[in-house]
Amino acid sequence: MSYLPFTRPTLDEATIQGVTEVLHSGWLSSGPKAKEFEAALSAYFGGRSVRAFNSGTATLEVALQLCGIGPGDEVITTPMSWVATANVILHVGATPVFVDVDPLTGNIDLDRIEAAITPRTKAIIPVDLAGLPVDRDRLYAIAKKQGLRVIEDAAQSMGATWQGKKIGSFGDLISFSFHANKNMTTGEGGCLVLSDEAQIPLAEKLRLQGVERFPDGTMDVDVAGGKYNLTDIAARIGLGQLKQVDGFNRRRRELVKHYFTCFDRSLGCGLPQENFTDSNWHMFQILLPLDRISRGEFIEQMKQREIGVGVHYPSIHLFTLFRRMGFKEGDFPNAEKIGRETVTLPLFPAMELADVERVCTAVKEIIEASRK
Ligand SMILES: *Cc1c(COP(=O)(O)O)cnc(C)c1O
Repeated sequence: MSYLPFTRPTLDEATIQGVTEVLHSGWLSSGPKAKEFEAALSAYFGGRSVRAFNSGTATLEVALQLCGIGPGDEVITTPMSWVATANVILHVGATPVFVDVDPLTGNIDLDRIEAAITPRTKAIIPVDLAGLPVDRDRLYAIAKKQGLRVIEDAAQSMGATWQGKKIGSFGDLISFSFHANKNMTTGEGGCLVLSDEAQIPLAEKLRLQGVERFPDGTMDVDVAGGKYNLTDIAARIGLGQLKQVDGFNRRRRELVKHYFTCFDRSLGCGLPQENFTDSNWHMFQILLPLDRISRGEFIEQMKQREIGVGVHYPSIHLFTLFRRMGFKEGDFPNAEKIGRETVTLPLFPAMELADVERVCTAVKEIIEASRK
C-alpha cells in the first residue's frame, strides 16, 4: 500500500501553468500577481482591506506592531498552538500571558481571559485550533469591555465561518497563513485583514524595510520594517488555490463525516467536536488513551503501516524557551493533557473515503493489539 501522509497540498494544472507564466514574465518578486492576489482575497473577505505577506508569522508580527505593542506590554494567548503564536509576541519585546484552553475544543477558554488581564494587557491573540473558530461574539464582547485589541490567529481557519460569516470578513486584525500544510497554500505565505484602512501605509512599510516611495523617484524610511513581501510566484499559486479553497473544505467535511462513521468509539480515544457548520476541518485530531498505548508506540505502528501522523501541538509553555521564563508543568493542565495525548490523523482533499477506512482500521488494530 502506498504511503499516506497526514496532509498534502492539492495543486491543479492551471495553477502550475500559471506559475510557469509568472516565471516567463520576468517579474518574480512582489508585482502584479501579488496585487491581484490581494484584490482576490479582499473580495473573498467581503471587500475588506487585505495585504499579503511571505508568512503567517510575519503577518502576526506586523499586526502586533500595528497595535503599537512592544516592551512592557502583555498579550493574552493560548498555549495550544504552533509556537509562532507566542514567538511573535517575544519578537516585538512584549510578554505572552497564556490562558488555559477548553478541554473539548482545544481553543482558549474565554471564561479565563478576564482573570488574566492586567493594566499592561494590550491585546488578545486567539487561535482557531484545527480550524474550529473561537466564539467571536464572546471574544469581541470581552475585548470591547476591556478596551483590548484582537489579533485573530486564523492561520488554520481559512474558509471557516462564525454564525454564517466567513472568518476574516469581520473583526479587528485577522491573520492567515498559506504555509504548505494549511487549507490553502502559496508554498509559504500569509495575509492580514485590516479593520482600519488608515493603517495600510504603515502595514506596507512594516512589510518592506519601512520604505515609502515618492512620485519623483525618491524614498524615505521612518520605521525599521522587515522583509516580509510575498513573491509573484507564490501569489500565483494563491490565486489558483483561492478559487478552490471552499471546495477543498467541503471535501474535508465529507472525509471527516466518514471518520466519525468509521471510527470505533470503544477504543477510548477522544474525538474532536463534531462541528460541520463552522469548522474548515484543518485537521482531524484524536486524543490517545495513554493507559492503552504510548504515543511514540502508536506513531511507530502507524508508520509501519505507511500512515503519517502529526503532533499538533505540545503545549508551548513547556518548551525550554518558555520554561526559562518561569512556566512549568501544572500551569495549564488542559493544554498539557492535549499536548500529551493528541495525534493528527491524515486529512487532505485528495484523500479517498477508502483512505479514511484504512486509517480507522489501523488505529483500531494498533490500539487493540497494544500490550501496555
Ligand atoms: C501555521 C501557523 C502559524 C504560522 O504561519 P507560517 O505561515 O508558517 O508562518 C501561526 N499560527 C498558527 C496557529 C499556525 O497554524
